[in-house]
Amino acid sequence: MANREPHAVVFPFPTQGHINPLSLLAKRLLNGGINVTFVHTARTFRMLQQRNQIELSRKDSEDPGNYASCKGAKLRMEVLPDEVSTDDASAPVSPSVVLFISSIPLLRVHLQCFLQRLLDEGRPASCIISDTFLPWTQDVANSFNIPRIEFWSSTAMVYSMGFSIPNLLRHGYLPVPSGTDLETTIDIVPGVGPCRHADFFYDLLHDSGASPRFKFFQDAFSRGKESQRVLIHSMQHLEDNVIQALREEGIPVDPIGPLLESFVDGSASSTHEHYTELNSVSLLDEDTSCLEWLNTHPKTSVIYVSFGSNVKIHVEEIQELAFGLEDSQQPFLLVIRPDLLDNKSLSDILPDNFIERNRGRAWVSFWAPQRAILLHPSVGGFLTHCGWNSILESMWTGVPLIGCPRESEQNTNLKCLLDWKCAISIDLKQPKVILKRELVKTAISTLFNEPEGELVRSRMTELKTAARNTIEKGQSRFNLEKLIDDIKKMASGDRPRFLPA
Ligand code: UDP
Repeated sequence: MANREPHAVVFPFPTQGHINPLSLLAKRLLNGGINVTFVHTARTFRMLQQRNQIELSRKDSEDPGNYASCKGAKLRMEVLPDEVSTDDASAPVSPSVVLFISSIPLLRVHLQCFLQRLLDEGRPASCIISDTFLPWTQDVANSFNIPRIEFWSSTAMVYSMGFSIPNLLRHGYLPVPSGTDLETTIDIVPGVGPCRHADFFYDLLHDSGASPRFKFFQDAFSRGKESQRVLIHSMQHLEDNVIQALREEGIPVDPIGPLLESFVDGSASSTHEHYTELNSVSLLDEDTSCLEWLNTHPKTSVIYVSFGSNVKIHVEEIQELAFGLEDSQQPFLLVIRPDLLDNKSLSDILPDNFIERNRGRAWVSFWAPQRAILLHPSVGGFLTHCGWNSILESMWTGVPLIGCPRESEQNTNLKCLLDWKCAISIDLKQPKVILKRELVKTAISTLFNEPEGELVRSRMTELKTAARNTIEKGQSRFNLEKLIDDIKKMASGDRPRFLPA
């Protein structure tokens, strides 16, 4: 292959929690002189357009002048049709895995055609960087004889559990036999050591082995060995054992987290600011007025409460949550996504006169600028569903957590938080259990008023320093630089071997 410009086709799984970190990685690549095509599915692209805050236009290949360009590297958006496109403004932010599965054949064909078009136009992809949840992109990369770099947006621990699915099936641990005591421990997951059945992520615990969802997860973690490397949005110092163990299993894992430098308190470089398309990847309109409301509160007094982009919470639970917040005496900023309203109004689902009773002390948003909120000095705690992005964003800003996992891998993430001693737990053990107001009140009171809360707060400050060190001058920074160098080699047709530090 002739010496071409380095060009990465970056393809996230189309949900908010997966788009966010890959958009941050894309910025790093652009900054390092790599051209990037960022792939959206039609559904997420339409949501971005509907927000109407940014002018996103599909950049035609015939018009290279339309590319965002900085430091010589170009950014382009590509939109692939899917089966779950919707114009419905009240649709969930993220489509379910089952819905997504129906789109895979269509997406595969369109990705194939797109890569062919790039080749025909003389600007071939040097590699595909795609989400672990898009394992079939490995086949597409193989058919063009280019490397696939896998991107995993959560912890090495969860990856190791997913990687172990065949072994867990073989040993009869999965599907979980009925009557299993979830407190019993299992010790076959690389690098994790003995862990409780209950710590296996919910998707594994609660899906039967034959369900399409289970198959989806099984497939997702089956291609790591074939990829050029598996980038993990975690940190070496947090997960050294698991990272080493995965490498010994033949998975070329490199941690590169937290990819959060670009929004840090006003110090974002002008290069980063340039890429409007990647700075505005929020799929819903953000309520920025909550930042002004935060200005009216004392330092570290407000508890921020959000369950991310995907978790389903019943109206009954929202009420319990609201009562618990009210009883806690702390000021609070609560996010309730529009799709949780069940076609009702906010005042219908909150307790009677809740807004009036808590005027001044409470703010409720449909969707909030979370990263900016966590940077605000008034925020003293974050009650979270334990989505991994939310955890990293909190670590980045040193905000201590109350963890209340509900779905996906959130229970496993809570296990990590407790191991790292940076959260108070509201562990409901099972996803279907209803959250109760007393639990909310007690957890908030512990965080703000008890010595245990003080310990969590100071531990989070340590983790903040470590997170900044690793991405600014430590292992994650080194791994990112190595990635950029390797993509440049790939552009000349080389297949650089993965060499862990
Ligand atoms: N988020 C946001 N505003 C909100 C709630 C969430 O911008 O009101 C962002 C948050 O900053 C994070 C992402 O949405 O980057 C949620 O990802 P996470 O992994 O925490 O949870 P998921 O949505 O995948 O369950």
